[in-house]
Amino acid sequence: MDFQLSEDQRAFQDMARQFAAEHLTPNAGRWDEENHFPLEELRQAAELGMAAIYVGEEHGGSDLTRLDAAILFEELAVGCPSTAAFLTIHNMVSWMVDRFGSDAVRARFLPDLTTMRRVASYCLTEPSAGSDAASLKTRAEPEGNAEYRLNGSKAFISGGGASDVYAVMCRTGGDGPGGISCLLVENGTKGLSFGAPERKLGWHSQPTSMVNFADCRVPSENILGAEGEGFRIAMAGLDGGRINIAACSLGGARAALEAAMSYVKERQQFGRNLADFQSIQFKLADMATELDAARLMVHRAAISLDAKSPDATKHCAMAKRLATDIGFKVVNEALQIHGGYGYLRDFPLERLLRDLRVHQILEGTNEIMRVVISRKLLDG
Ligand SMILES: Cc1cc2nc3c(=O)[nH]c(=O)nc-3n(C[C@H](O)[C@H](O)[C@H](O)COP(=O)(O)OP(=O)(O)OC[C@H]3O[C@@H](n4cnc5c(N)ncnc54)[C@H](O)[C@@H]3O)c2cc1C
Repeated sequence: MDFQLSEDQRAFQDMARQFAAEHLTPNAGRWDEENHFPLEELRQAAELGMAAIYVGEEHGGSDLTRLDAAILFEELAVGCPSTAAFLTIHNMVSWMVDRFGSDAVRARFLPDLTTMRRVASYCLTEPSAGSDAASLKTRAEPEGNAEYRLNGSKAFISGGGASDVYAVMCRTGGDGPGGISCLLVENGTKGLSFGAPERKLGWHSQPTSMVNFADCRVPSENILGAEGEGFRIAMAGLDGGRINIAACSLGGARAALEAAMSYVKERQQFGRNLADFQSIQFKLADMATELDAARLMVHRAAISLDAKSPDATKHCAMAKRLATDIGFKVVNEALQIHGGYGYLRDFPLERLLRDLRVHQILEGTNEIMRVVISRKLLDG
């Protein structure tokens, strides 16, 4: 087992670290306050190959591994977890198009997705189908051979209203996962509309909204995979998505730990630096240890997915559960170390706490991660 990054991986890591330091860290607080979606900076990240990290080179992607992606997203999330997390969703859809789209679909969509001239969203959740996603009701009826007629609503869609392309899981057959297909719906399609932007605890640098379909005509060729394969495609996307969200928790937590380490060397109470108190030293030691353990789990999951291991789904769920819980805990401890100042907007801790909280909820809640893991343990 090799715990060292390769020379190439260290180079990607440096590149993402520099990008985050120059473009994300200085702006993250303002984007959070102003609910600003930083499309320009996302496109700059795309120029560096970070919008289609594991899309094939022949389609304009970077053709890197899931482990490379985890390394990149951790670095970006040190700068802004919310913006990095949006990029993970766009990457998930770019990969789904590359992996499951026909040649015509790839040729039509990928050039704009890899550059982020067009931005993509992933639409699985519905108002009455969250954790039980396979019960979704959005329906696509065939209209002759050329089109589907799409009706229904998706809830909580990251990028809703701002994105140009929506990968929509919808029912083309009977009940259950086998009746679900995945269609690409383009913004501007007649009958596509969006709810008001949701008012959220965190993730303010990206919009979230309902996405509604009222008799939307979608070309049949916009299907990813075959009819009935949509749920499998959605879950395949989520395996990688979970690693990436976990990596964003690592990055956000690392930023918080670094802030806490600087703070304890400066802040004095009882005539001593906070860093001189052993209880503070032990707290920092535990935060660093747990963060390292979480990173090992995330990298192991990425390696499993790269190797197409039969344990990949379990490893991804384990890594997502552990890293997002530990990430939130580390940020919370870092906030505590800052005392009252940690609670103020003058310091980044409260934003990091708000941004990382949702990682325990989305791409499958951490309870659902336990469902996935225990099912694999008990059923094999
Ligand atoms: C900011 C934000 C962005 C999002 N972005 C997207 C997106 O881009 N695309 C998308 O498709 N979705 C998105 N989501 C939706 C997200 O994936 C869902 O919120 C999540 O899957 C949970 O679904 P729910 O909210 O309906 O909760 P519910 O499924 O109603 O769950 C409520 C609670 O019950 C628990 N629970 C449910 N079932 C079980 C069970 N069997 N055993 C134990 N506990 C259980 C859950 O863990 C949770 O704690 C986003 C959500 C948020 C908040």
